[in-house]
Amino acid sequence: MNDTSKEKESSKSLNFIQAIIEEDLRQGKNEKRVHTRFPPEPNGYLHIGHAKSICLNFGLAQQYGGKCNLRFDDTNPTKEEVEYVDSIKEDVHWLGFDWEDREYYASDYFEILYDYAITIINKGKAFVCDMSAEEISANRGTPTRPGKESPYRDRSIEENLDLFRRMRAGEFKEGSHTLRAKIDMSSPNMHMRDPVMYRIMFDHHHRTGDKWCIYPTYDFAHGQSDYIERITHSVCTLEFEVHRPLYDWFLDQITEPGSYRPHQYEFARLNLSYTIMSKRKLLELVKEKYVNGWDDPRMPTISGLRRRGYTPESIRYFADKIGVAKRDNVIDVALLEHSIREDLNKRALRRMAVIRPVKLVIDNYPDGLVEYMDATNNPEDPESGVRKMSFSKELYIERDDFMEEAPPKFFRLKPGGEVRLKYAYIVKCEYIEKDKDGNIEVIHCSYDPETRSGMPQSNRKVKATIHWLSAAHSKLAEIRLFDRLFTVEIPDEAEEGKDFKDYLNPDSLEVVQGFVEDSFQDVKALDKFQFERLGYFCVDPDTDANKLILNRTVTLKDAWAKIERKQS
Ligand code: ATP
Ligand code: MG
Repeated sequence: MNDTSKEKESSKSLNFIQAIIEEDLRQGKNEKRVHTRFPPEPNGYLHIGHAKSICLNFGLAQQYGGKCNLRFDDTNPTKEEVEYVDSIKEDVHWLGFDWEDREYYASDYFEILYDYAITIINKGKAFVCDMSAEEISANRGTPTRPGKESPYRDRSIEENLDLFRRMRAGEFKEGSHTLRAKIDMSSPNMHMRDPVMYRIMFDHHHRTGDKWCIYPTYDFAHGQSDYIERITHSVCTLEFEVHRPLYDWFLDQITEPGSYRPHQYEFARLNLSYTIMSKRKLLELVKEKYVNGWDDPRMPTISGLRRRGYTPESIRYFADKIGVAKRDNVIDVALLEHSIREDLNKRALRRMAVIRPVKLVIDNYPDGLVEYMDATNNPEDPESGVRKMSFSKELYIERDDFMEEAPPKFFRLKPGGEVRLKYAYIVKCEYIEKDKDGNIEVIHCSYDPETRSGMPQSNRKVKATIHWLSAAHSKLAEIRLFDRLFTVEIPDEAEEGKDFKDYLNPDSLEVVQGFVEDSFQDVKALDKFQFERLGYFCVDPDTDANKLILNRTVTLKDAWAKIERKQS
C-alpha cells in the first residue's frame, strides 16, 4: 500500500468525532489532551444504548492515549439510588472499561456550582423568581411566540443574593422559589428562555444526605461538571444539541474568554427494533412486574443481556459495527443477535440437549450395553478436542424430528424411514407406541451396527442427521426459551389510545423441561454452550445443586448474516 492509499484507508474508517479529535490534536488544542466522560444519571440500570456511549467514550480515550471519567449526574434526589450506582459500576467494568480513580459525582460539585450561581447573580444575570413551576411553564411561550418576562426579573443583585442564600438555608417552601438565568424570553431556542438553575427540594440525597435543600438542574450542572473535570470532548446524544447554547452561555459567565472550555459533540442515540430504551419505561416494566427485574434476560439492559448469555466482546463488536451517526435511525436487533453468534461460534463448546423430548428405543440394540461415541467439542476450535458421549438402547430425541404423517420433503424420522444419529448409528423407525390420548410415547427403531460414525464401513448416506441423548445418561434441566419482548418494530410509536405495553409479546418466555448431556456436572453461572441444532444457551445464575436452569441466548438461524450476504 502506498502512503496516500494508506491515508485514505485510515480516514475512511474515522467516525466524525475521531475526525474532530484528530484535527484538535493537530492544532495542539487542550495541550493535546483527550479527556472524555460517561455521565449516567443513577436512576435506572444501563441498557444497550448506554453501552454504545460507554464504548465510544472509553474507546476514544483508549485510542488517543487519553482518559475517560465515570461521572454520576446525580442532581435529582427523588429518582436516584445507590443500587443504580452499584449496578452502573458493575456494568461498565463488565464491558471491559476502567475509570481508574476517576469516579466522580455531580453532587461532589454542589458547593462549587453554588459559587458559580453566586457569580452569575453578581453579574446581574440570574434572579430569584417567585413563580410556581406551572406559572413558569405557562409563560414560556411557544417556539414561534415569545414568552413573558417574569415580574421578578428585575430584582436587584442584593435582593437576589439574599433570597438565594435563604433558599439554601431552607427558609422557603418547596416550589415557592427558583433561581433562573436571565437570558432572553424571546429566544427562538426555548432552552434560553430564562431557564431554571436551582429548585427547592426537601429530599434526602443518596450522597449529600440532608445537607442541601436546593438542587441544581441537570442543565446547570452538566456543562460545568465537564468544565470542572477538564473534559475536552463532551460527547452526548442528539437531543442535547439544543441545550448546547445554554451550556455555552453558562460557561461564558464563569470563564475568561479564550481560556479552556469543554466542547460538546452530539451523535445519534442507538434505537433498536423490537426494543424500548427509555429508563422510565424500563422501570415501569420492572415495577409492574411485566418482567422479572432489571436483569430479566428479555430486557435490553446490560445486566439482562449478560444473563441472557451475551459477552462483553459481542457488545463491543456490536457498538463498533453500528458506528457513530449524526442522524437518528433504528438498528435491526438482528445485528445484535448476529454479534453474539459470531463470538460464540468461535468459542462455545458444542453439546447435545433435547428440549422437547420423546423416547426412542432401539429394539435390536443389546440390553445394558453402553458405547462411548466421540463427539467434537467445537469444530471451529481444533484445540477444544473431543468428548465421549454415552450411547445406549433408550434415547431421547426431539419430538419435532419425528413425523407420523410426513410430507415428501420431510427427511428426518418417519415410519419406515431412516435417519443418522449424530456421532452414532443410522436407525430406522419400525413402529410407534401411543398413549390412550393418541400422543406418541415411544418410537421403536432398529439400528444397523455397520453404520457407526467414523468406522470405515459407515459410508452409507441418509438425508438427515439428528441429535439425541442416552436416557440413562442425561440430566434434567429447566430450559428458558426467550423471544422478543415486543411484537412490533417500534413499540415507542404506539397508535392512539395505546402505549408501549400494549405491544408486549405474550410468548416472550416459554419454559420447558428438557435434558442435557450428563457432562453438565460442574457448570458455573453464565457458562455458555451451543446445543447442536438448537442455539446458544447459558447457565442461569439461579442454577443450584438441585436445579439446572439454562437460558437460550439466540437460535442458530442468523437473519443478519443472510442480509449481509444478499448485500455483498
Ligand atoms: P432517559 O432516556 O431515561 O432520559 P438517558 O438514557 O439519557 O435517560 P443518562 O443516564 O442520562 O440516561 O445517559 C447517560 C449517557 O448515555 C448520556 O450521555 C446519554 O447521552 C447516553 N445515552 C443514553 N441513551 C443512549 C442511547 N440510546 N444511545 C446512545 N447513548 C445513549
Ligand atoms: Mg439523559
